Amino acid sequence: SGIKFDNYDDIPVEASGKDVPEPLLEFDSPPLDALLLENIKLAGFNKPTPVQKYSVPIVTNNRDLMACAQTGSGKTGGFLFPVFTELFESGPSPMPEKAQSFYSKKGYPSALVLAPTRELATQIFEEARKFTYRSWVRPCVVYGGAPIGNQMREVDRGCDLLVATPGRLNDLLERGKISLANIKYLVLDEADRMLDMGFEPQIRHIVEECDMPSVGNRQTLMFSATFPVDIQHLARDFLDNYIFLSVGRVGS
Ligand code: ADP
Ligand code: MG
Repeated sequence: SGIKFDNYDDIPVEASGKDVPEPLLEFDSPPLDALLLENIKLAGFNKPTPVQKYSVPIVTNNRDLMACAQTGSGKTGGFLFPVFTELFESGPSPMPEKAQSFYSKKGYPSALVLAPTRELATQIFEEARKFTYRSWVRPCVVYGGAPIGNQMREVDRGCDLLVATPGRLNDLLERGKISLANIKYLVLDEADRMLDMGFEPQIRHIVEECDMPSVGNRQTLMFSATFPVDIQHLARDFLDNYIFLSVGRVGS
């Protein structure tokens, strides 16, 4: 199934929460970064999808987000566009002192995207590569079922946005190869699938690692096709004064 992009304006969108920002009707600068817009154009994207229209201004206005939207609705751009805008424009952040003594290399992401499977993590990484073209931001991806050594070497070469499956990320955390002390953006993509796969303990541990703050407020964005009670609990525990976005028909 999925959404046809020629008629996605018909898709109903509901946004609730305090002070919901106005949706973004076109890919425009501002709020989006000019280099990012060039990369969006290179990717052949002409207009934001409904989830992108709402999520971009929500995130650029520093709000947490719980978004329910079906597969194919453009969620990846919905979180990558505002996060890259912020990263492109703020430039590399200096490594916090606490970490300098511990980490000699640059496995020090500002943004973390958790995804349930190798396939989905790779898709997000490939999108991230397109949209960071000619920018200072270097994306990396780590997932289980593949040699960890190559992934560690990639992370050591510099990692500003990390896309990860929860199990492999925990493995790298245990080995001291990655620090989450600098995370400004945490994205849980396909959160319902991650819970179905039994990743809740790993996710909670990862969020605790992000909560050892050195940069102040972390922004958290959750995406899910459905909104069952266990996802509602994660939203309650991880999100702060969030906006709830529901795109299309959402099951529970
Ligand atoms: P989801 O994560 O919601 O399943 P994706 O972010 O993977 O959806 O997007 C689904 C497909 O639509 C991808 O092939 C993506 O490149 C494409 N797409 C996303 N946003 C746009 C857009 N604004 N314009 C055109 N195509 C888009
Ligand atoms: Mg997706």
